[in-house]
Amino acid sequence: MRGLKKIGKFHEENTGLPYHPFKIKDDLPKDKQFAKVRVLAHAEPDYDDEGGEIDNGKPVIQAIFMHQAFRVVNSTRCVNNDSAQPVPEECPLCRVKCPRSLRTFIPVRVRNDEDEKRVQIIEYGRNHLTEVQNFIEEREDADITGVDIKIKRIGKKKDTEYRWTPILGTERPLDEQELALEIPDMLALIPVKEESELEKRAMEFERAMKAKKVKGEDADDDDDDDDNEEDDDDADEKPRSKQRKVPF
Ligand SMILES: [Zn+2]
Repeated sequence: MRGLKKIGKFHEENTGLPYHPFKIKDDLPKDKQFAKVRVLAHAEPDYDDEGGEIDNGKPVIQAIFMHQAFRVVNSTRCVNNDSAQPVPEECPLCRVKCPRSLRTFIPVRVRNDEDEKRVQIIEYGRNHLTEVQNFIEEREDADITGVDIKIKRIGKKKDTEYRWTPILGTERPLDEQELALEIPDMLALIPVKEESELEKRAMEFERAMKAKKVKGEDADDDDDDDDNEEDDDDADEKPRSKQRKVPF
C-alpha cells in the first residue's frame, strides 16, 4: 500500500534501517501469486496471573486506529489507540466523527528472500485481518510464529483476498536468526500528530461534511493493496483529487 513507502522513508531516516512493505503482485501468473512466510511477532503478549500484560520484549503484532476520509482527510493516527470506542474528548477527529479503522501490521520473513536481514511488513485492514484471525483460531492455541505460512493472493484490487494456510512439516519455534531480526515499531513510525494539526484536520473534515463531500462511513476502509506504482510518489501530504493514503 502506498503510504507504507512514506513510513519506509521515515524509518530509514530515523534508524538507518530499510523498511519493506510486503506485497504479492497481481501481475504474476495466478499460480505464482503466493508467498511463503514466517510471522515474526506473536498474536498476544504474555500475561501475568492477574491478566496484566508482561513487558518482556516479546514482539507482538501491532495494530493502530487510523482516521481517514476518502479525498478529505489524510490517514491520521487516532489519539485513542487503546480504546475500541472513540473518545471524543481526547481526539479531535473522533470528536467530529471522522471514520476510524484499525490497521494491523504483521512482520514476516519471506522464504527465499535473498536479503537475510529483511523483515517485511504486511499491512491489513479489517477485512483481511479476518482471514488471519480465522487462521489463528483454526490452529487453536498454536503460536502464529510456530509454522511457515503460505499466503495466496486471490483476485485484484478491492476484490483481493489473501488465503493463509500452514505449511505442513515446517512446525518449529523461531530460530536464533529470526529472533535477532529488527522488527519496526509501528507506533513509533506512525506518531500521533500535534494537537494543532489534529484540530486542523478535524476542521477540514467538518467543512467537507457540511459540503457533503464525504462518502459513507468507512468508504476507504479498504484492503486493496494498490498496485498502481505510478501513484507511489510521496511528494505531498495534502488531500487532492486522487487521494492517496498517507498513514502519518
Ligand atoms: Zn480519534
